[in-house]
Amino acid sequence: MEGEHPTTTHFGFETVAAGDKARRVAGVFHSVASRYDLMNDLMSLGLHRAWKSFTIAQASIRPGMRILDVAGGTADLARAFARRLQGRGEVWLTDINGSMLSVGRDRMLDDGHIQPAVQCDAESLPFPSRYFDRVTVAFGLRNMTRKEHALAEMRRVLRPGGKLLVLEFSRVCQPLEKLYDVYSFEVLPRLGARIAGDADSYRYLAESIRVHPDQETLKGMLEQAGFARVRYFNLAAGVVALHEGLVLE
Ligand code: SAM
Repeated sequence: MEGEHPTTTHFGFETVAAGDKARRVAGVFHSVASRYDLMNDLMSLGLHRAWKSFTIAQASIRPGMRILDVAGGTADLARAFARRLQGRGEVWLTDINGSMLSVGRDRMLDDGHIQPAVQCDAESLPFPSRYFDRVTVAFGLRNMTRKEHALAEMRRVLRPGGKLLVLEFSRVCQPLEKLYDVYSFEVLPRLGARIAGDADSYRYLAESIRVHPDQETLKGMLEQAGFARVRYFNLAAGVVALHEGLVLE
């Protein structure tokens, strides 16, 4: 259950104490961190790269901007932003999970980007208000316990004229639902077991997608958090959606 002070929440299809979700999610990402990028390519047949490219294009990054990548994990977005800024501007890679963040930070350094990496919870961002021009969160919101708090924090740290981009799994269009179910609940956990030695984490992935707010619900949540001109793009028939919202004042 989401809300101001929820006592329980979803962890996939399980209902767990709200205070316990972060620990369970941390377990998932500590377990998969070293195989995360390979699994992403295999699971999505490389499509996650196209979804992220679309997100990067929609972000309209310009030199001099300050960008915050929340739940940035292995830094796919942060690296692309840093490449575009070419040292003029700031890209902050953040994640709650030390294992994911250290893979991401190493990849940034391997690319020659000297940018900050900060371990922090999206629900309580350690940044001043109105600091960033862009905030992005890719495949991260679904894992957060109090999504409303996280969205409010992302709104707080954006300056007027700033933009939030949320890339996340969403509700697939109806004719594909059956096929998608078979893929998610039969194929994914097997792939996870084989490649990452961890079927449970990939079962959690499939379940967490099903309990995540659909496109229209998430649009309403962004509006509720104070974002204006909220819109979304369905990608791959709604397997994934990119939501955008602006901060006007
Ligand atoms: N953004 C990266 C990408 O698109 O490849 C990583 C996405 S990965 C599926 C989800 C990430 O969300 C994990 O690295 C996890 O540690 C992070 N995460 C989960 N809950 C979080 C929270 N409350 N605050 C910040 N990061 C969180």
